[in-house]
Amino acid sequence: MHVSSIKIDPYLNVDAGTMNPKEHGEVFVLSDGGEVDLDLGNYERYLNITLTRENNITTGKIYQHVIEKERRGDYLGKTVQVVPHITDAIQAWIERVSKIPVDDTNEEPDVCIVELGGTVGDIESMPFVEALTQLRHRAGKNNFLNIHVSYVPTINGEQKTKPTQHAVKSVRSAGLIPDLIACRCERPLERSTIEKIAHHCQVEVEQVVAVRDMPTIYQVPVLLEEQGLIPLLREAFKIQGDAIPAAMVRKGAKIWRQWKSLTVTQDHYYEQVNVALVGKYIELHDSYLSVIKSLEHSAMRCRRKLNLIWVDAEHLEPATRQSDPAKFHKAWHEVCTASGVLVPGGFGQRGTEGMMAAAKWARDNRTPYLGVCLGMQVAVIEYARTMCGITDATSEEFNAKANDKVIVFMPEIDKATLGGTMRLGLRPTVFQAGSEWSRLRALYNNAPEVLERHRHRYEVNPEYIERLEQAGLTFIGKDEEGKRMEIVELKDHPYFVGVQYHPEYLSRVLDPSRPYLGFVAASAGCLEQVTADLLSDGIDSPVNGVNGAADKGKHF
Ligand code: GLN
Repeated sequence: MHVSSIKIDPYLNVDAGTMNPKEHGEVFVLSDGGEVDLDLGNYERYLNITLTRENNITTGKIYQHVIEKERRGDYLGKTVQVVPHITDAIQAWIERVSKIPVDDTNEEPDVCIVELGGTVGDIESMPFVEALTQLRHRAGKNNFLNIHVSYVPTINGEQKTKPTQHAVKSVRSAGLIPDLIACRCERPLERSTIEKIAHHCQVEVEQVVAVRDMPTIYQVPVLLEEQGLIPLLREAFKIQGDAIPAAMVRKGAKIWRQWKSLTVTQDHYYEQVNVALVGKYIELHDSYLSVIKSLEHSAMRCRRKLNLIWVDAEHLEPATRQSDPAKFHKAWHEVCTASGVLVPGGFGQRGTEGMMAAAKWARDNRTPYLGVCLGMQVAVIEYARTMCGITDATSEEFNAKANDKVIVFMPEIDKATLGGTMRLGLRPTVFQAGSEWSRLRALYNNAPEVLERHRHRYEVNPEYIERLEQAGLTFIGKDEEGKRMEIVELKDHPYFVGVQYHPEYLSRVLDPSRPYLGFVAASAGCLEQVTADLLSDGIDSPVNGVNGAADKGKHF
């Protein structure tokens, strides 16, 4: 079926753009430039769809909308209240956004998965619970299915059902009756636990679905199928055998076969690929969620087990050698022994000297390197310093008064215009003449142009391009006007690639992001094979960012 998704975050922020990645995890960027909760990334990846900023609802967004209407006088002098005005606005939003086409067929979705974040009893969640209760009523039977997700902890070997009982009681008293109870648990639920939950929550045993931990999350869909979720959903929505067109059934069956063959065998890979991620927000791994996912998708394609080594960029700096030599040497040991070095995106100066040192190591030692956004910028600065003799080269972001700003602020819009100054969302990158040798270009099926998502303020200063290119660093991908540097690659290196965009936002389980795939394959020593396999798949096979992708042709 055509499936869309909406994520509701009951917090007051209007969007996730200003949220600290250390607290909230990564800010996910959509093609339309929306900065949203990272869960939207999960939905895009799992469903292979392209969502819009409107698919993320926050309390801030709803209130802003209602208050703007109130200021315009749209409520005709009435008292504006949470019920019915906020709750009506939530329902209208869900109904409107659930109909936006999200896949490459451009057809209206058949189903919309609405995830309400937070916990039962949160004050902020209450208007949403009330709105969904009303929507459930209005939609009627067979059009609305409420899945209550609950945790069933195991304490001293005993599975505890009380938290679930209490949570279900709370939602029931708010009027939101569960049709299914999805129990998160570490190990399979015992029959007696399921019976207890069914009994106390007034549902049938079949309505209790156990979602236990799996070796990898990619196996969860397989688990859900084993749990009989498909007949349950068919029954709940009264989907007859012939309701879905034969072509869709065939397409679904093909995806399912590919999914199972890729994910179920994943446990059996014994060859590892060791990747060092040199970053700044490494305490909370969710800060780099899409990066990790892209590496996982790529490792699966290379049939390797991913061993991700987290390195704090600051630990690679001389100051740490002074203050904590053990940390310094440990961090360097990890970088030096890794098969590949990845420097992801980030903001601010802290840790950037360490990132540059890691980029230099990879460059000197022919270790595969992938620099994403900030990771590309630091690689360019390092090259300018070492190879062009511009010893004080830096970025305007790190030192606005420096003489040699190799990375500068280049806003797309007038600096005085109100609103965000970041370059956000989908933009084209054109491969330059003479870049036929590029490993990355081959991975993109030799496409002349690719579309990828951006989130940055600074970029390579055009004034330094000539010197950098003369010293051997080639800018093989630029924007349509040739003003903005999008891809750097070293010819004389197994894989040294920097991209100004964030390819991780378009990576899919069955279609890994190409810059990441190239990086993991080069680190695993199978780049040539992987590239050859991709090219033999034919150019009609989908490549995110190139052809067949839902994003194609849409510019924002
Ligand atoms: N801080 C850099 C910029 O704004 C890089 C941003 C990023 O890595 N997302 O250009």
